[in-house]
Amino acid sequence: MRRDVRRVAVLGGGITGLSAAFYLKRIAKEQGRNIEVTVLEKSDRFGGKVNTLRKNGFVIERGPDSFLGRKLPMLRLARELDLLDELVGTNPQATKTYLAYGGALHPMPKGLNLGIPNDLGAFARNSVVSPLGKLRALDELRLPPKTDDGDESVGGFLERRLGREMVERIGEPLLAGIHAGDLYKLGLKATFPQFAEMERKYGSVIRGMIEARKKAPVAGAKAAEARSAAVGGAKIPPTAFLTFRRGLSTLIEALEERLRAEGCELRIDAEVTAIRKPADGAGGAEAAAGKATAEIGADTPAVGAASAGTAYRLELADGSAVEADAVLLTLPAFATGSLLAPHVDASALTTMDYASVANIVLAYDARDFDHKLDGSGFLVPHGEGRAITASTWTSSKWGNTAPAGKRLIRCYVGHSTDASALDLSDEELTAAVKRDLRELMGLTAEPEFIEITRLRRSMPQYPVGHTDRIAALRHELAERLPGIYATGAPFDGVGLPDCVEMAKAAAEQMLGD
Ligand code: FAD
Repeated sequence: MRRDVRRVAVLGGGITGLSAAFYLKRIAKEQGRNIEVTVLEKSDRFGGKVNTLRKNGFVIERGPDSFLGRKLPMLRLARELDLLDELVGTNPQATKTYLAYGGALHPMPKGLNLGIPNDLGAFARNSVVSPLGKLRALDELRLPPKTDDGDESVGGFLERRLGREMVERIGEPLLAGIHAGDLYKLGLKATFPQFAEMERKYGSVIRGMIEARKKAPVAGAKAAEARSAAVGGAKIPPTAFLTFRRGLSTLIEALEERLRAEGCELRIDAEVTAIRKPADGAGGAEAAAGKATAEIGADTPAVGAASAGTAYRLELADGSAVEADAVLLTLPAFATGSLLAPHVDASALTTMDYASVANIVLAYDARDFDHKLDGSGFLVPHGEGRAITASTWTSSKWGNTAPAGKRLIRCYVGHSTDASALDLSDEELTAAVKRDLRELMGLTAEPEFIEITRLRRSMPQYPVGHTDRIAALRHELAERLPGIYATGAPFDGVGLPDCVEMAKAAAEQMLGD
Protein backbone atom coordinates (compact mmCIF):
# COMPACT_ATOMS: atom_id res chain seq x y z
CA MET A 1 0.00 0.00 0.00
CA ARG A 2 1.31 3.46 -0.89
CA ARG A 3 2.42 5.46 2.17
CA ASP A 4 0.60 8.70 2.76
CA VAL A 5 3.52 10.95 1.90
CA ARG A 6 2.73 14.65 2.05
CA ARG A 7 5.88 16.15 3.48
CA VAL A 8 9.27 15.09 2.17
CA ALA A 9 12.63 16.20 3.50
CA VAL A 10 15.71 15.87 1.33
CA LEU A 11 18.96 16.00 3.27
CA GLY A 12 21.86 17.47 1.31
CA GLY A 13 21.74 20.11 -1.41
CA GLY A 14 24.31 18.65 -3.80
CA ILE A 15 23.37 17.52 -7.29
CA THR A 16 21.73 14.37 -5.93
CA GLY A 17 19.58 16.19 -3.39
CA LEU A 18 18.47 18.98 -5.73
CA SER A 19 17.68 16.63 -8.61
CA ALA A 20 15.79 14.34 -6.23
CA ALA A 21 13.68 17.32 -5.12
CA PHE A 22 13.08 18.17 -8.78
CA TYR A 23 11.91 14.64 -9.63
CA LEU A 24 9.82 14.36 -6.46
CA LYS A 25 7.86 17.41 -7.53
CA ARG A 26 7.65 16.21 -11.12
CA ILE A 27 6.40 12.73 -10.22
CA ALA A 28 3.92 14.00 -7.62
CA LYS A 29 2.47 16.35 -10.23
CA GLU A 30 2.12 13.49 -12.70
CA GLN A 31 0.35 11.47 -10.01
CA GLY A 32 -1.94 14.40 -9.21
CA ARG A 33 -0.60 14.60 -5.67
CA ASN A 34 0.42 17.64 -3.74
CA ILE A 35 3.60 17.14 -1.76
CA GLU A 36 5.77 19.60 0.10
CA VAL A 37 9.48 19.26 -0.34
CA THR A 38 12.15 20.78 1.89
CA VAL A 39 15.85 20.55 1.11
CA LEU A 40 18.11 20.85 4.15
CA GLU A 41 21.71 21.75 3.34
CA LYS A 42 24.39 22.05 5.98
CA SER A 43 26.71 24.53 4.25
CA ASP A 44 26.00 28.09 3.17
CA ARG A 45 25.49 27.21 -0.50
CA PHE A 46 23.84 24.61 -2.74
CA GLY A 47 25.76 22.40 -5.15
CA GLY A 48 27.90 20.29 -2.83
CA LYS A 49 30.94 19.17 -4.82
CA VAL A 50 29.70 21.10 -7.86
CA ASN A 51 31.19 24.54 -7.43
CA THR A 52 31.95 26.89 -10.31
CA LEU A 53 33.86 30.12 -9.73
CA ARG A 54 33.40 32.79 -12.41
CA LYS A 55 36.27 35.21 -12.12
CA ASN A 56 37.85 37.79 -14.48
CA GLY A 57 36.17 36.11 -17.48
CA PHE A 58 37.44 32.64 -16.47
CA VAL A 59 35.14 29.72 -15.70
CA ILE A 60 36.91 27.80 -12.93
CA GLU A 61 35.64 24.50 -11.58
CA ARG A 62 36.56 23.90 -7.95
CA GLY A 63 35.11 20.37 -8.06
CA PRO A 64 33.92 18.28 -11.03
CA ASP A 65 34.54 19.85 -14.44
CA SER A 66 32.39 17.84 -16.84
CA PHE A 67 30.21 14.78 -17.28
CA LEU A 68 30.05 11.79 -19.58
CA GLY A 69 27.68 12.57 -22.45
CA ARG A 70 26.80 8.94 -23.18
CA LYS A 71 25.15 8.62 -19.78
CA LEU A 72 21.80 10.18 -20.47
CA PRO A 73 20.31 11.31 -17.12
CA MET A 74 22.23 14.61 -17.11
CA LEU A 75 21.12 15.38 -20.65
CA ARG A 76 17.50 14.59 -19.80
CA LEU A 77 17.70 16.87 -16.79
CA ALA A 78 19.40 19.60 -18.82
CA ARG A 79 16.52 19.39 -21.28
CA GLU A 80 13.90 19.63 -18.52
CA LEU A 81 15.65 22.77 -17.31
CA ASP A 82 15.98 24.32 -20.79
CA LEU A 83 19.76 24.18 -20.64
CA LEU A 84 20.55 22.31 -23.88
CA ASP A 85 21.75 25.48 -25.60
CA GLU A 86 24.27 25.96 -22.81
CA LEU A 87 26.04 22.62 -23.40
CA VAL A 88 29.60 22.69 -24.68
CA GLY A 89 31.93 19.86 -25.69
CA THR A 90 35.69 19.46 -25.60
CA ASN A 91 37.98 20.99 -28.20
CA PRO A 92 38.41 18.35 -30.95
CA GLN A 93 42.06 19.43 -31.37
CA ALA A 94 42.93 18.73 -27.73
CA THR A 95 42.64 14.96 -27.69
CA LYS A 96 46.23 14.12 -26.78
CA THR A 97 46.85 13.12 -23.16
CA TYR A 98 50.31 12.76 -21.67
CA LEU A 99 51.69 10.44 -19.06
CA ALA A 100 54.53 11.47 -16.75
CA TYR A 101 57.19 8.85 -16.69
CA GLY A 102 60.87 9.06 -15.75
CA GLY A 103 60.59 12.81 -15.08
CA ALA A 104 59.17 13.73 -18.51
CA LEU A 105 55.82 13.77 -20.31
CA HIS A 106 55.18 11.05 -22.90
CA PRO A 107 52.11 10.79 -25.12
CA MET A 108 49.68 8.31 -23.56
CA PRO A 109 50.27 4.98 -25.30
CA LYS A 110 47.83 4.33 -28.10
CA GLY A 111 45.79 1.17 -28.48
CA LEU A 112 44.30 1.25 -24.99
CA ASN A 113 40.81 1.73 -23.62
CA LEU A 114 40.60 2.40 -19.88
CA GLY A 115 44.17 1.08 -19.69
CA ILE A 116 43.34 -2.24 -21.40
CA PRO A 117 44.96 -2.97 -24.79
CA ASN A 118 42.34 -2.94 -27.57
CA ASP A 119 44.65 -2.51 -30.59
CA LEU A 120 47.57 -4.90 -30.25
CA GLY A 121 49.72 -3.33 -33.00
CA ALA A 122 49.50 0.14 -31.48
CA PHE A 123 50.00 -1.22 -27.97
CA ALA A 124 53.15 -3.10 -29.06
CA ARG A 125 54.70 0.17 -30.30
CA ASN A 126 54.29 2.15 -27.06
CA SER A 127 57.40 3.30 -25.26
CA VAL A 128 55.97 3.52 -21.72
CA VAL A 129 55.62 -0.20 -20.99
CA SER A 130 58.81 -2.36 -21.19
CA PRO A 131 59.01 -5.26 -23.69
CA LEU A 132 58.63 -7.70 -20.78
CA GLY A 133 55.66 -5.77 -19.42
CA LYS A 134 54.01 -5.89 -22.86
CA LEU A 135 54.60 -9.65 -23.19
CA ARG A 136 53.12 -10.20 -19.75
CA ALA A 137 50.09 -8.06 -20.63
CA LEU A 138 49.47 -9.94 -23.88
CA ASP A 139 49.71 -13.25 -22.05
CA GLU A 140 46.27 -12.28 -20.74
CA LEU A 141 44.77 -13.63 -23.95
CA ARG A 142 45.84 -17.12 -22.88
CA LEU A 143 45.10 -16.95 -19.14
CA PRO A 144 42.06 -18.92 -18.02
CA PRO A 145 39.24 -16.73 -16.68
CA LYS A 146 38.32 -16.63 -13.01
CA THR A 147 35.51 -19.05 -12.34
CA ASP A 148 33.92 -17.68 -9.17
CA ASP A 149 31.66 -14.64 -9.08
CA GLY A 150 33.22 -13.03 -5.99
CA ASP A 151 34.30 -9.39 -5.99
CA GLU A 152 38.00 -8.40 -6.01
CA SER A 153 39.98 -5.17 -6.08
CA VAL A 154 40.56 -3.35 -9.36
CA GLY A 155 44.33 -3.58 -8.77
CA GLY A 156 44.07 -7.29 -7.99
CA PHE A 157 42.11 -7.88 -11.17
CA LEU A 158 44.49 -5.90 -13.40
CA GLU A 159 47.58 -7.47 -11.88
CA ARG A 160 46.10 -10.96 -12.19
CA ARG A 161 45.18 -10.40 -15.84
CA LEU A 162 47.79 -7.94 -17.20
CA GLY A 163 50.71 -7.97 -14.76
CA ARG A 164 52.12 -5.52 -12.24
CA GLU A 165 53.86 -3.18 -14.68
CA MET A 166 50.61 -2.40 -16.50
CA VAL A 167 49.01 -1.56 -13.16
CA GLU A 168 51.81 0.79 -12.12
CA ARG A 169 52.43 2.57 -15.42
CA ILE A 170 48.97 2.68 -16.98
CA GLY A 171 46.15 1.39 -14.78
CA GLU A 172 46.98 3.32 -11.64
CA PRO A 173 47.26 6.85 -13.08
CA LEU A 174 44.34 6.35 -15.44
CA LEU A 175 41.80 4.48 -13.34
CA ALA A 176 42.81 5.39 -9.81
CA GLY A 177 42.70 9.02 -10.93
CA ILE A 178 38.96 8.79 -11.52
CA HIS A 179 38.43 7.95 -7.83
CA ALA A 180 41.67 9.51 -6.44
CA GLY A 181 41.94 6.05 -4.99
CA ASP A 182 44.09 3.04 -4.29
CA LEU A 183 43.41 0.45 -6.99
CA TYR A 184 44.14 -2.34 -4.52
CA LYS A 185 41.29 -1.15 -2.28
CA LEU A 186 38.66 -0.19 -4.86
CA GLY A 187 36.11 -2.94 -5.51
CA LEU A 188 35.85 -4.01 -9.16
CA LYS A 189 32.10 -4.66 -9.18
CA ALA A 190 31.27 -1.18 -7.95
CA THR A 191 33.77 0.72 -10.11
CA PHE A 192 34.60 -1.12 -13.36
CA PRO A 193 32.08 -4.00 -13.57
CA GLN A 194 32.57 -4.16 -17.34
CA PHE A 195 36.06 -5.66 -16.86
CA ALA A 196 34.72 -8.65 -14.91
CA GLU A 197 31.91 -9.01 -17.43
CA MET A 198 34.38 -9.11 -20.34
CA GLU A 199 36.50 -11.72 -18.61
CA ARG A 200 33.38 -13.79 -18.06
CA LYS A 201 31.99 -13.35 -21.55
CA TYR A 202 35.16 -13.49 -23.68
CA GLY A 203 37.55 -15.30 -21.34
CA SER A 204 39.85 -12.27 -21.60
CA VAL A 205 39.44 -8.57 -20.91
CA ILE A 206 41.73 -7.72 -23.85
CA ARG A 207 39.54 -9.78 -26.18
CA GLY A 208 36.49 -8.04 -24.71
CA MET A 209 38.01 -4.62 -25.40
CA ILE A 210 38.94 -5.62 -28.97
CA GLU A 211 35.37 -6.76 -29.58
CA ALA A 212 34.06 -3.51 -28.10
CA ARG A 213 36.37 -1.55 -30.45
CA LYS A 214 35.08 -3.46 -33.47
CA LYS A 215 31.55 -2.54 -32.48
CA ALA A 216 32.55 1.04 -31.68
CA PRO A 217 31.31 2.72 -34.88
CA VAL A 218 27.90 1.07 -34.50
CA ALA A 219 27.91 1.69 -30.76
CA GLY A 220 29.00 5.30 -31.38
CA ALA A 221 26.20 5.88 -33.88
CA LYS A 222 23.69 4.26 -31.53
CA ALA A 223 24.95 6.36 -28.62
CA ALA A 224 24.58 9.54 -30.71
CA GLU A 225 21.05 8.47 -31.65
CA ALA A 226 20.20 7.71 -28.02
CA ARG A 227 21.59 11.08 -26.94
CA SER A 228 19.59 12.88 -29.51
CA ALA A 229 16.42 10.91 -28.71
CA ALA A 230 16.91 11.58 -24.98
CA VAL A 231 16.72 15.28 -25.69
CA GLY A 232 13.85 15.26 -28.14
CA GLY A 233 16.01 15.21 -31.26
CA ALA A 234 18.07 18.28 -30.31
CA LYS A 235 21.68 18.43 -31.47
CA ILE A 236 24.26 18.28 -28.73
CA PRO A 237 28.06 18.45 -28.95
CA PRO A 238 29.33 15.04 -30.10
CA THR A 239 32.26 14.80 -27.64
CA ALA A 240 32.59 12.19 -24.88
CA PHE A 241 32.56 14.82 -22.12
CA LEU A 242 30.27 17.80 -21.83
CA THR A 243 29.79 20.78 -19.58
CA PHE A 244 27.87 24.06 -19.58
CA ARG A 245 29.22 27.27 -21.12
CA ARG A 246 29.20 29.02 -17.73
CA GLY A 247 30.26 25.94 -15.79
CA LEU A 248 28.54 23.08 -14.00
CA SER A 249 26.95 25.35 -11.40
CA THR A 250 24.63 26.42 -14.24
CA LEU A 251 22.69 23.22 -13.53
CA ILE A 252 22.59 23.87 -9.79
CA GLU A 253 21.38 27.44 -10.30
CA ALA A 254 18.65 26.27 -12.70
CA LEU A 255 17.54 23.59 -10.24
CA GLU A 256 17.42 26.10 -7.39
CA GLU A 257 15.37 28.52 -9.47
CA ARG A 258 12.93 25.84 -10.64
CA LEU A 259 12.50 24.36 -7.17
CA ARG A 260 11.79 27.75 -5.63
CA ALA A 261 9.29 28.50 -8.39
CA GLU A 262 7.54 25.23 -7.57
CA GLY A 263 7.27 26.11 -3.90
CA CYS A 264 10.03 23.90 -2.49
CA GLU A 265 11.64 25.14 0.65
CA LEU A 266 15.42 25.34 0.14
CA ARG A 267 17.31 25.87 3.38
CA ILE A 268 21.04 26.44 3.76
CA ASP A 269 22.89 26.43 7.10
CA ALA A 270 20.56 23.59 8.05
CA GLU A 271 22.65 20.69 9.31
CA VAL A 272 20.62 17.65 10.33
CA THR A 273 22.12 16.08 13.44
CA ALA A 274 19.64 13.28 14.27
CA ILE A 275 16.67 11.40 12.88
CA ARG A 276 14.03 10.40 15.42
CA LYS A 277 11.59 7.65 14.60
CA PRO A 278 7.92 8.23 15.44
CA ALA A 279 8.25 5.71 18.25
CA ASP A 280 11.30 7.50 19.66
CA GLY A 281 9.01 9.66 21.71
CA ALA A 282 9.47 13.34 21.08
CA GLY A 283 8.53 13.36 17.37
CA GLY A 284 5.59 11.02 17.59
CA ALA A 285 4.13 12.39 20.79
CA GLU A 286 4.51 16.02 19.80
CA ALA A 287 3.28 15.33 16.32
CA ALA A 288 0.20 13.61 17.67
CA ALA A 289 -0.43 16.61 19.87
CA GLY A 290 0.01 18.91 16.85
CA LYS A 291 3.05 20.56 18.42
CA ALA A 292 5.65 19.92 15.78
CA THR A 293 8.53 22.33 16.29
CA ALA A 294 8.77 23.25 12.62
CA GLU A 295 6.43 22.37 9.84
CA ILE A 296 7.49 21.78 6.28
CA GLY A 297 5.90 24.39 4.10
CA ALA A 298 3.86 27.32 5.35
CA ASP A 299 0.53 25.91 4.19
CA THR A 300 0.87 22.49 5.70
CA PRO A 301 -2.14 21.80 7.84
CA ALA A 302 -1.38 20.94 11.44
CA VAL A 303 -0.27 17.37 11.63
CA GLY A 304 -3.48 15.56 10.95
CA ALA A 305 -4.87 12.16 11.59
CA ALA A 306 -3.24 10.64 8.51
CA SER A 307 0.25 11.45 9.69
CA ALA A 308 -0.08 11.92 13.44
CA GLY A 309 2.54 9.82 15.12
CA THR A 310 3.95 8.56 11.84
CA ALA A 311 6.25 11.44 10.97
CA TYR A 312 9.99 11.32 11.35
CA ARG A 313 11.52 14.16 13.26
CA LEU A 314 14.78 15.66 12.02
CA GLU A 315 16.82 17.54 14.59
CA LEU A 316 18.94 20.40 13.32
CA ALA A 317 22.19 21.81 14.65
CA ASP A 318 20.51 25.11 15.53
CA GLY A 319 18.16 23.32 17.94
CA SER A 320 15.10 23.41 15.70
CA ALA A 321 13.40 20.37 14.16
CA VAL A 322 11.57 19.45 10.99
CA GLU A 323 8.96 16.73 10.55
CA ALA A 324 8.50 14.67 7.44
CA ASP A 325 6.58 11.61 6.30
CA ALA A 326 9.46 10.57 4.07
CA VAL A 327 13.14 11.46 4.18
CA LEU A 328 15.86 11.11 1.55
CA LEU A 329 19.48 11.28 2.67
CA THR A 330 21.94 12.36 -0.05
CA LEU A 331 24.95 13.12 2.13
CA PRO A 332 28.53 11.84 2.13
CA ALA A 333 28.76 8.26 3.49
CA PHE A 334 30.09 9.31 6.89
CA ALA A 335 27.21 11.78 7.39
CA THR A 336 24.43 9.49 6.17
CA GLY A 337 26.05 6.65 8.15
CA SER A 338 26.12 8.54 11.44
CA LEU A 339 22.45 9.60 11.07
CA LEU A 340 21.35 6.02 10.31
CA ALA A 341 23.64 4.21 12.77
CA PRO A 342 21.28 4.51 15.78
CA HIS A 343 18.60 2.68 13.79
CA VAL A 344 20.28 0.18 11.42
CA ASP A 345 23.66 -1.40 10.75
CA ALA A 346 25.20 1.48 8.81
CA SER A 347 28.77 0.18 8.90
CA ALA A 348 28.86 -0.07 5.08
CA LEU A 349 28.76 3.74 5.19
CA THR A 350 30.54 4.62 8.43
CA THR A 351 33.59 2.53 7.49
CA MET A 352 33.85 3.73 3.90
CA ASP A 353 37.19 5.37 3.14
CA TYR A 354 37.31 8.77 1.51
CA ALA A 355 40.14 10.33 -0.46
CA SER A 356 41.04 13.97 0.05
CA VAL A 357 42.27 16.05 -2.85
CA ALA A 358 43.30 19.62 -3.49
CA ASN A 359 42.49 21.34 -6.74
CA ILE A 360 44.94 24.08 -7.74
CA VAL A 361 43.93 26.26 -10.66
CA LEU A 362 46.48 28.59 -12.26
CA ALA A 363 45.43 31.40 -14.61
CA TYR A 364 48.00 32.99 -16.98
CA ASP A 365 48.34 35.67 -19.57
CA ALA A 366 49.09 34.05 -22.95
CA ARG A 367 51.92 36.56 -23.64
CA ASP A 368 54.09 35.20 -20.81
CA PHE A 369 53.05 31.60 -21.35
CA ASP A 370 55.84 29.29 -22.48
CA HIS A 371 54.08 26.03 -23.36
CA LYS A 372 51.97 25.11 -26.36
CA LEU A 373 49.33 23.13 -24.40
CA ASP A 374 48.92 20.76 -27.34
CA GLY A 375 46.57 18.37 -25.60
CA SER A 376 44.14 17.95 -22.75
CA GLY A 377 46.67 17.45 -19.94
CA PHE A 378 48.68 14.75 -18.22
CA LEU A 379 48.47 11.99 -15.62
CA VAL A 380 51.14 11.11 -13.08
CA PRO A 381 51.63 7.56 -11.71
CA HIS A 382 51.99 7.53 -7.94
CA GLY A 383 55.44 5.97 -8.21
CA GLU A 384 56.80 9.11 -9.91
CA GLY A 385 56.81 10.80 -6.51
CA ARG A 386 55.23 14.08 -7.67
CA ALA A 387 52.80 16.33 -5.84
CA ILE A 388 50.55 16.54 -8.93
CA THR A 389 48.52 13.42 -9.66
CA ALA A 390 46.78 14.83 -12.74
CA SER A 391 46.64 18.09 -14.63
CA THR A 392 44.04 19.37 -17.08
CA TRP A 393 45.10 21.95 -19.64
CA THR A 394 41.72 23.49 -19.15
CA SER A 395 41.82 26.38 -21.62
CA SER A 396 43.03 24.07 -24.35
CA LYS A 397 40.48 21.33 -23.58
CA TRP A 398 37.47 23.61 -22.97
CA GLY A 399 37.14 26.71 -25.14
CA ASN A 400 34.63 28.28 -22.73
CA THR A 401 36.92 28.47 -19.69
CA ALA A 402 39.36 31.32 -20.41
CA PRO A 403 38.91 34.70 -22.10
CA ALA A 404 40.87 35.43 -25.28
CA GLY A 405 44.59 35.81 -24.64
CA LYS A 406 44.53 33.86 -21.36
CA ARG A 407 45.44 30.32 -20.32
CA LEU A 408 44.08 28.11 -17.56
CA ILE A 409 45.62 24.97 -16.02
CA ARG A 410 44.18 22.83 -13.26
CA CYS A 411 46.21 20.44 -11.11
CA TYR A 412 45.10 17.77 -8.66
CA VAL A 413 47.15 17.00 -5.60
CA GLY A 414 46.38 14.26 -3.06
CA HIS A 415 45.55 10.59 -3.18
CA SER A 416 43.64 8.11 -1.04
CA THR A 417 46.90 6.67 0.27
CA ASP A 418 48.47 10.05 0.99
CA ALA A 419 46.48 13.12 1.93
CA SER A 420 49.45 14.87 3.58
CA ALA A 421 49.67 17.38 0.74
CA LEU A 422 46.39 18.89 1.94
CA ASP A 423 48.07 19.98 5.15
CA LEU A 424 50.60 22.08 3.26
CA SER A 425 50.11 25.83 3.41
CA ASP A 426 48.89 27.61 0.25
CA GLU A 427 52.46 28.77 -0.38
CA GLU A 428 53.88 25.26 -0.02
CA LEU A 429 51.17 23.73 -2.23
CA THR A 430 51.72 26.37 -4.89
CA ALA A 431 55.48 25.89 -4.81
CA ALA A 432 55.14 22.09 -5.15
CA VAL A 433 52.74 22.42 -8.09
CA LYS A 434 54.86 25.03 -9.86
CA ARG A 435 57.96 22.84 -9.40
CA ASP A 436 56.19 19.89 -11.04
CA LEU A 437 54.91 22.05 -13.90
CA ARG A 438 58.41 23.43 -14.47
CA GLU A 439 60.11 20.02 -14.36
CA LEU A 440 57.49 18.13 -16.38
CA MET A 441 56.32 20.79 -18.86
CA GLY A 442 59.20 23.27 -18.76
CA LEU A 443 56.65 25.91 -17.74
CA THR A 444 58.23 28.92 -16.07
CA ALA A 445 55.50 31.55 -16.63
CA GLU A 446 54.13 33.23 -13.53
CA PRO A 447 50.35 32.87 -13.08
CA GLU A 448 48.16 35.97 -12.84
CA PHE A 449 46.27 34.31 -10.02
CA ILE A 450 45.88 30.94 -8.33
CA GLU A 451 42.77 29.38 -6.79
CA ILE A 452 43.25 26.57 -4.27
CA THR A 453 40.37 24.34 -3.16
CA ARG A 454 40.92 21.66 -0.54
CA LEU A 455 38.31 18.93 -0.80
CA ARG A 456 38.78 16.87 2.33
CA ARG A 457 37.12 13.46 2.40
CA SER A 458 35.51 14.16 -0.94
CA MET A 459 35.90 10.97 -3.01
CA PRO A 460 34.16 7.84 -1.69
CA GLN A 461 36.27 4.71 -2.12
CA TYR A 462 33.94 1.81 -2.89
CA PRO A 463 35.59 -1.19 -1.27
CA VAL A 464 35.55 -4.83 -2.37
CA GLY A 465 32.05 -6.16 -1.60
CA HIS A 466 30.47 -2.67 -1.76
CA THR A 467 27.47 -3.56 -3.92
CA ASP A 468 26.43 -6.44 -1.63
CA ARG A 469 26.85 -4.36 1.53
CA ILE A 470 24.81 -1.49 0.08
CA ALA A 471 22.06 -3.90 -0.98
CA ALA A 472 21.94 -5.28 2.58
CA LEU A 473 21.78 -1.77 4.05
CA ARG A 474 18.93 -0.76 1.74
CA HIS A 475 17.06 -3.92 2.63
CA GLU A 476 17.40 -3.24 6.36
CA LEU A 477 16.41 0.41 5.87
CA ALA A 478 13.19 -0.60 4.10
CA GLU A 479 12.36 -3.03 6.91
CA ARG A 480 13.22 -0.90 9.90
CA LEU A 481 12.77 2.68 8.75
CA PRO A 482 9.96 2.70 6.18
CA GLY A 483 9.91 6.09 4.49
CA ILE A 484 13.64 6.70 4.96
CA TYR A 485 15.80 6.37 1.86
CA ALA A 486 19.46 7.02 1.18
CA THR A 487 21.33 7.57 -2.07
CA GLY A 488 23.99 9.70 -3.76
CA ALA A 489 27.68 9.38 -4.51
CA PRO A 490 28.46 6.83 -1.76
CA PHE A 491 25.99 4.33 -3.27
CA ASP A 492 25.85 3.39 -6.96
CA GLY A 493 28.27 5.67 -8.80
CA VAL A 494 30.18 8.90 -8.27
CA GLY A 495 29.70 10.45 -11.73
CA LEU A 496 27.27 13.35 -12.06
CA PRO A 497 24.93 11.42 -14.41
CA ASP A 498 24.95 8.54 -11.90
CA CYS A 499 23.92 10.95 -9.15
CA VAL A 500 21.03 12.31 -11.23
CA GLU A 501 19.94 8.79 -12.12
CA MET A 502 20.03 7.71 -8.46
CA ALA A 503 18.09 10.83 -7.48
CA LYS A 504 15.34 10.07 -9.98
CA ALA A 505 15.17 6.41 -8.94
CA ALA A 506 14.89 7.42 -5.27
CA ALA A 507 12.10 9.90 -6.04
CA GLU A 508 10.20 7.23 -7.97
CA GLN A 509 10.59 4.78 -5.13
CA MET A 510 9.53 7.29 -2.48
CA LEU A 511 6.33 8.16 -4.26
CA GLY A 512 5.69 4.65 -5.51
CA ASP A 513 6.20 2.57 -2.37
P1 FAD B 1 27.63 16.14 -2.45
O1 FAD B 1 27.94 17.01 -3.58
O2 FAD B 1 28.73 15.74 -1.52
O3 FAD B 1 26.44 16.82 -1.62
C1 FAD B 1 26.11 16.43 -0.33
C2 FAD B 1 25.67 17.66 0.44
O4 FAD B 1 25.26 17.26 1.74
C3 FAD B 1 26.76 18.69 0.63
O5 FAD B 1 26.35 19.91 0.08
C4 FAD B 1 26.95 18.76 2.15
O6 FAD B 1 27.25 20.06 2.61
C5 FAD B 1 25.59 18.31 2.64
N1 FAD B 1 25.59 17.75 4.00
C6 FAD B 1 26.53 16.98 4.61
N2 FAD B 1 26.12 16.65 5.86
C7 FAD B 1 24.89 17.20 6.04
C8 FAD B 1 23.94 17.17 7.11
N3 FAD B 1 24.19 16.51 8.23
N4 FAD B 1 22.77 17.84 6.95
C9 FAD B 1 22.49 18.51 5.79
N5 FAD B 1 23.37 18.56 4.75
C10 FAD B 1 24.55 17.91 4.86
N6 FAD B 1 31.96 13.60 -11.36
C11 FAD B 1 31.81 13.74 -12.71
O7 FAD B 1 30.83 13.24 -13.27
N7 FAD B 1 32.71 14.47 -13.45
C12 FAD B 1 33.81 15.04 -12.88
O8 FAD B 1 34.57 15.74 -13.58
C13 FAD B 1 34.03 14.85 -11.50
N8 FAD B 1 35.12 15.40 -10.89
C14 FAD B 1 35.20 15.40 -9.53
C15 FAD B 1 36.23 16.10 -8.92
C16 FAD B 1 36.31 16.16 -7.53
C17 FAD B 1 37.41 16.91 -6.89
C18 FAD B 1 35.34 15.48 -6.74
C19 FAD B 1 35.41 15.54 -5.24
C20 FAD B 1 34.32 14.77 -7.35
C21 FAD B 1 34.24 14.72 -8.74
N9 FAD B 1 33.20 14.03 -9.39
C22 FAD B 1 33.04 14.13 -10.74
C23 FAD B 1 32.17 13.34 -8.61
C24 FAD B 1 30.94 14.20 -8.37
O9 FAD B 1 31.30 15.56 -8.31
C25 FAD B 1 30.27 13.82 -7.05
O10 FAD B 1 30.13 12.42 -6.94
C26 FAD B 1 28.89 14.47 -6.92
O11 FAD B 1 28.98 15.87 -7.11
C27 FAD B 1 28.30 14.13 -5.56
O12 FAD B 1 27.04 14.74 -5.43
P2 FAD B 1 26.11 14.45 -4.18
O13 FAD B 1 24.96 15.38 -4.28
O14 FAD B 1 25.81 12.99 -4.11
O15 FAD B 1 27.01 14.76 -2.92
